[in-house]
Amino acid sequence: MTAASTPDTPIASDFIREQVGRDVAARVNGARVVTRFPPEPNGYLHVGHAKSICLNFGLAEDFDGLCNLRMDDTNPVTENEDFVKGIQDDLRWLGFEWNGPVCYASDRFEQLYEWAQDLIRQGVAYVDDQDADTIAATRGSIGEPGVNSPYRTRTVEGNLDLFARMRAGEFGDGAKVLRALIDMADPNGQLRDPIMYRIRHVDHHRTGSTWCIYPTYDWAHGQCDALEGITHSVCTLEFDAHRPLYDWYLNHLELPGDRPRQFEFARLNLTHTVLSKRKLAQLVRDQLVTGWDDPRMPTLRGMRRRGYTPETLRTFCAHIGVAKVNSTNEIELLEWFLRQDLNRTSVRRMAVLHPLKVVVENFPEGHVEWLDAVNNPEDPTAGSRKIPFSRVLYLEQDDFMEHPAPKFFRLAPGNEVRLRYAYFLKCTGVVKNDQGGIVELRATYDPATAGGSSPDGRKVKTTLHWLSAEHAELREVRLYNHLFSDPYPDAQEGRDPLEFLNPASMETLRAFVEPALAHANPGDRVQFERLGYFCADLDDASVFHRSVTLKDEWARIQQRNPK
Ligand code: ATP
Ligand code: MG
Repeated sequence: MTAASTPDTPIASDFIREQVGRDVAARVNGARVVTRFPPEPNGYLHVGHAKSICLNFGLAEDFDGLCNLRMDDTNPVTENEDFVKGIQDDLRWLGFEWNGPVCYASDRFEQLYEWAQDLIRQGVAYVDDQDADTIAATRGSIGEPGVNSPYRTRTVEGNLDLFARMRAGEFGDGAKVLRALIDMADPNGQLRDPIMYRIRHVDHHRTGSTWCIYPTYDWAHGQCDALEGITHSVCTLEFDAHRPLYDWYLNHLELPGDRPRQFEFARLNLTHTVLSKRKLAQLVRDQLVTGWDDPRMPTLRGMRRRGYTPETLRTFCAHIGVAKVNSTNEIELLEWFLRQDLNRTSVRRMAVLHPLKVVVENFPEGHVEWLDAVNNPEDPTAGSRKIPFSRVLYLEQDDFMEHPAPKFFRLAPGNEVRLRYAYFLKCTGVVKNDQGGIVELRATYDPATAGGSSPDGRKVKTTLHWLSAEHAELREVRLYNHLFSDPYPDAQEGRDPLEFLNPASMETLRAFVEPALAHANPGDRVQFERLGYFCADLDDASVFHRSVTLKDEWARIQQRNPK
């Protein structure tokens, strides 16, 4: 990797930190900094959320403040308790602990209802009987004002009465909504009488059947911020146009404390990845993956099963920083950080994915030699282990060519290679079946090359990984590729991202591993020499997921497009 392409120094500051720093210096809100992470419990957290989490919790940490966890649970149709619990587990796994008990937007439903009544009394909210299609059709567009609802002129008493009856369940779903009365001609469409409440006769996972009207995101969010004492409400760029509405609501209410302010930053996008929860939920529902925790999913639980560490995700988020303009990060950059992390921490082991039997003719039958092998050359404290060498070995099929191509320096008839932590090995013959397929190799080893070097100064070009056949343990190994073959699956005009699902995103093999892995524990991370970093499955340690290969794809990308 070249110096220019090394993603080494984390980005220290960003425009949000600078703004918060200015606020603290100016003692805005008494110099308090309180942020929040506000997931909607309609799915599990993904790597995009990790960026928001690192920013919100990071701000609190940098400015000696607090960060709340708030379930933005205003839509009972798609939300549930499993997600509420899973979000907390994932957040803790990532290494963050929120301030106090979990907050819920649904705990504020009564206060939001009272505040909505206040707006009605001020003459700035009204009950509209138009259906959703009519409301959408009369919103206007850019440069074209919307049309006032015929129900906009209802009296305060009439609106209070209808709103109470909406709450009491007198009307069916969609029969009425409560809207803020702002300006149907405002250039900002968000201010064209936005909807505050919808009727939904659906039980809520926390409030049960208490409510049949539910607040919209916009009506709930800023008010929950204010009730929790949030000072800096950070959200993604698409809410930029909502900020005037956020402020409009807060300006019309009697707040218990200081007024929060909204800031926007660019959301995380990754190549070959979809981060829309709706699409992720569809992958799960349609069984295109094995679940939210499928190792191919960009969810925190999927990545965890794949072998990602929380440190990798946090370092990656610190490195990419926070910007004001949307962009897409290469997934290879994330993988670069994973590789860096695993290189330091993973023990090395040998595994053979596609075995080719080799009989070492000059090694005595029935004899076993136990050789020393270093556990992690990057970590002197990791110690060493013994690996067995015997007469019948397994090598990787593609480490042998009967008729070697130019520059193929691995095993070939008459050619000599080094076996990792063992001896030089020379191929002396090829055994084939009736169809001409290679079934085994014959070879000789040089006992004078113990430890991997020759006393006569003879050199070999390649070191191969190998296993002793009789000691090898059979395990399931899963290799992964991008879940989406297109680098920008959700940016293809008029196409469903799922059209770009990669049919070859997972390959399952029966492979051999060295005996030291016989008793691997769930979640153990290892490097299979020359093959990549692998992680024992969290439920079944006899399955190994490949977290990432050893090849530095990021360096390749950097060489192609030097920045
Ligand atoms: P989706 O649109 O896929 O449902 P969302 O933004 O509605 O995602 P939430 O659960 O509401 O999902 O998100 C919680 C917080 O995480 C929000 O503050 C949101 O801004 C932030 N967030 C969501 N996706 C990303 C992303 N890709 N990058 C950065 N922050 C994100
Ligand atoms: Mg959201």
